[in-house]
Amino acid sequence: MTTSDAQAAQDPAFEAAYQAAQKSLREGGIPIGAALARGGVVIASGHNERVQNGDPIAHGEMSALRAAGRQKSYRDTTLYTTLAPCAMCTGTIIQFKIPRVVVGEARTFGGEFELLRSRGVEVIVLDDQRCVDMMRTFQEENPELWAEDIAE
Ligand SMILES: [Zn+2]
Repeated sequence: MTTSDAQAAQDPAFEAAYQAAQKSLREGGIPIGAALARGGVVIASGHNERVQNGDPIAHGEMSALRAAGRQKSYRDTTLYTTLAPCAMCTGTIIQFKIPRVVVGEARTFGGEFELLRSRGVEVIVLDDQRCVDMMRTFQEENPELWAEDIAE
């Protein structure tokens, strides 16, 4: 176990995001999960639902935020996600003023860290090997579905 794996295993919110990604994978969907937490307590988790619901906007982060329902404020929340957030999800993080994002990995997709950080969002990358392996395998086995999700 690497240090980052150990850190991730100790964080129930990150584990919730990872388990949501695994659930999506079992359903034949894209294995990206997310969770919104406040004070270390998970408010809600969700996963990419492009395949399951035919919903192109339902990225993992969007699904978790939808599942969390209305929040008076996001300023004391952290969004966890197994993969670096895309431009759409980054826009939502900025819009909702979520101050902190914990990312499983950014090796298989670079995401929009520069934009997030330029808007004052703290970005923590765990570089979790489980997340890297999960996405690499999925991308290799489903190149067209992956390209569709990131509009390539
Ligand atoms: Zn996204």
